[in-house]
Amino acid sequence: MRRVVAHLDLDAFFAAVEENLDPTLRGKPVIVGGGKRGVVATANYIARRYGVHSAMPLVTAHRLCPHGVFVAGNHRLYRDYSRRLMNILGEYSPLVEQVSLDEAYVDLTGTERLFGPVTHTARAIQQRVQEELALSISVGLAGNKLVAKVASDMEKPHGFTVVPHGTEAAFLASLPVERLPGVGPALLRKLRDRGVRTVGDLARVPERLLRLSFGEWGCTLAHAARGEDHRRVESREMVKSISRETTFPDDVGDPEVLESTLIALTEDVCRRLRRRHLEARTVTVKIRYADFVTHTCSRTLTQPRDVDEVFFQEVISLFRRGRTRRYRVRLLGVGVGNLTPRAWQDDLFDQRIPLLRELDLKLDAIREKYGREAVKRGLTAGRR
Ligand SMILES: [Mg+2]
Repeated sequence: MRRVVAHLDLDAFFAAVEENLDPTLRGKPVIVGGGKRGVVATANYIARRYGVHSAMPLVTAHRLCPHGVFVAGNHRLYRDYSRRLMNILGEYSPLVEQVSLDEAYVDLTGTERLFGPVTHTARAIQQRVQEELALSISVGLAGNKLVAKVASDMEKPHGFTVVPHGTEAAFLASLPVERLPGVGPALLRKLRDRGVRTVGDLARVPERLLRLSFGEWGCTLAHAARGEDHRRVESREMVKSISRETTFPDDVGDPEVLESTLIALTEDVCRRLRRRHLEARTVTVKIRYADFVTHTCSRTLTQPRDVDEVFFQEVISLFRRGRTRRYRVRLLGVGVGNLTPRAWQDDLFDQRIPLLRELDLKLDAIREKYGREAVKRGLTAGRR
């Protein structure tokens, strides 16, 4: 059966919620972002005309758009809206993959018998979101996730773009290459150096050359340029927790060895978390002593997180408080639970976190490319 994937993305989500809350904001430039030194989380489309965009320092936004309405934002409310959106999507398919608070893939393959033609279904979803949540959402419909995502971004706001089967490469060819998800500034520079400006240019580069320049990632790029993507739409509800543990070949008493093991386990858990686009609110440390007595201790964070640095601190302090016996240690474990889909935009409220996350993602990429041993932070370096 031919696959049909919808990518749905709310338009200027936080700002649109604020406009629902206070209709007098409609028609005015609305900028959502936290604190005096914070950054813009979302700007509505009117504010964007003044050059305001997300991740921009609020100070800059103030300068560009001094008469704008600046709103601090309300996470709980956004999460509530997001839940309602996902509930609507869940009525149309069991395969809903939430990517962030305001974005999801829905696999609509085989829904024709229940709901009629897929384009009608996608239209119906768009309309229901408008009616029930009073929010505008853009829709892309295609044979895979990659093309559906590019499509949903084509005519924002309230876009509706269908890419028929077999026309994927032609659809992408004229678009700037940075429209492909995953082509960030660094890669873009390299591609431009090689004369690649559009997706079509990229499709004409022999795959062999891309692989030479970019390794495995080169293959992915070649596939993307042709509009091919074999990733499934994966419902993430199944994942309830992520954990890793290690049993020492010989029982260990040295706190330095124990703590650097915990750091390595935490790195691993956080990497898995990020790979699944999740954030966690609880963190658990498990200590099994030489006599097999096992203790676990947990802590709940005020906000869900996915950054190594945040969990390092929690894990080490849990361990120091939790290691109440003088026995050597046989096993250590680190786990995270209370998982929610990552909310990229949320973190824009907190300046420090995006920087840490960027570092983490870079390290993840390097590890994936060159193996786990390639990068170690101060604390884990020198172990093993
Ligand atoms: Mg959005």
